[in-house]
Amino acid sequence: MFTKMLVGGRFVDGAGAAETVFAPVTGEVILSIAEASAEQVDAAVASAVAAFPAWAALSPAERALCLLKIADAIETHAEELATVEALNTGKPRHLVLSDEIPAIVDGFRFFAGAARNVQGPVAGEYMAGHTSMLRRAPVGVVGAIVPWNYPLLMGAWKLAPALAAGNCCVIKPSENTPLSLLLLGQLMNACLPAGVLNVITGRGGSVGQQLLDHPDIGMISLTGDIATGRKVITAAAKAVKRTHLELGGKAPVLVYDDADLEAVVQGLRTFGYYNAGQDCTAACRVYADARIYDRLVAELTTAVASIRYGHADDALNEIPPLVSARQRSRVAAFVERAAELPHVEVTTGGKMVEGNGFFYEPTVIAGARPGDEIVEREVFGPVVSVTRCTDMEEVIRDVNASIYGLASSVWTRDIGRGMSAAARLRYGCTWVNTHFMLVNEMPHAGFRHSGYGSDMSLGCLEDYTIPRHVMVNWS
Ligand code: NAD
Repeated sequence: MFTKMLVGGRFVDGAGAAETVFAPVTGEVILSIAEASAEQVDAAVASAVAAFPAWAALSPAERALCLLKIADAIETHAEELATVEALNTGKPRHLVLSDEIPAIVDGFRFFAGAARNVQGPVAGEYMAGHTSMLRRAPVGVVGAIVPWNYPLLMGAWKLAPALAAGNCCVIKPSENTPLSLLLLGQLMNACLPAGVLNVITGRGGSVGQQLLDHPDIGMISLTGDIATGRKVITAAAKAVKRTHLELGGKAPVLVYDDADLEAVVQGLRTFGYYNAGQDCTAACRVYADARIYDRLVAELTTAVASIRYGHADDALNEIPPLVSARQRSRVAAFVERAAELPHVEVTTGGKMVEGNGFFYEPTVIAGARPGDEIVEREVFGPVVSVTRCTDMEEVIRDVNASIYGLASSVWTRDIGRGMSAAARLRYGCTWVNTHFMLVNEMPHAGFRHSGYGSDMSLGCLEDYTIPRHVMVNWS
């Protein structure tokens, strides 16, 4: 297994404290890996600083070519990347191959094209005798910090636009799941000038914090928890750094009385439990019209009880375990507290699965009410709550007051109703009669505590660049 960090175009072992990396499916130790020392973090940043002028000076076509080579390399090494990602995150390997790798490859190809299509207003005379033009300059060195739920995909979401825009990067995966990004570093290094990409491992409080505080990093791009986002903002306030934050989510799912219930149940079974619900867009907070509530709960309960996991034949598995014993305990505690409420019924699941892996039963919590912790807080596990409601207008007002504002969906056969709700939901994304579908052409961004700055889309390139005004006096 490839376990070396990438610093200044060279592969090196970490020289800091050792961190144990687990296989969530078995609970066994995969290996112990030393994090970057403070000197190695400095060296990674210094090499990115040194590589920046030449990388930024390349033409967009030249940078695009590098990104296209990276996409090809990922495609060529898809099996290897999927094996490592599946081992370290516990994901069913076939799903990494069918869902994640193609999206990652497409992301690099999309930003290869996007790099050559950065638009701005045409040059013009806004003052007599003077011509103004807009340039978009890369920020410089971007510190990218990614979580454990989609290590490769989240890494690609940051690296592809940042590099396309002409920045150099130092990326840190989660200490729980460093392995796939180390391998990606090896593949990408063969396609990039030395120092343009640096991959370092380590814990948030040590290596991560050093990146936040580093004076030579111009921008921190984080996907992670709200609490971590606050730390980024605090550090950025001191150093006056740019920030790009994709934080948590708690996606409301509004099911009207005229919805196609079969589609809703299938949708929730898939989009509520994919990746064991460790997804900031998971369809986890259902509001069902009272007229269809009982049927929805009954059918969802049966459907969720049929989700396959923990099979020795991984090809049969639909969801992974949770990423760590700690995350599983956190999820279990949420469900235990919810189950103590007199109005709540756990209709399926609700327990840790016996054995050494970090599995938790896919769970449906019926009868949950607005204000309940299980409705309001991000669980990040295979747990979906269903709330009975009689007034969808009130639900829209209620969910718009949530601290989260990333993803939402509306299920109805009346497209007018769907469009009306979509227009008023203050969420970064609203799906109508589906959920969870992402495309590289469209932004992924949040309202409120879910963060700001978008991943994917042409708009993302703007986040990784700074507009500049150049004016020529020819009078
Ligand atoms: P986390 O915030 O604990 O960790 C994310 C990353 O931040 C890790 O690499 C971690 O080492 C690092 N980190 C932690 N403390 C740090 C510090 N003081 N300084 C610098 N870096 C630090 O999140 P997690 O537990 O890995 O991931 C789950 C969270 O991520 C959930 O809240 C989830 O909603 C969120 N998430 C959001 C999106 C999105 O697009 N909005 C996508 C995926 C995950």
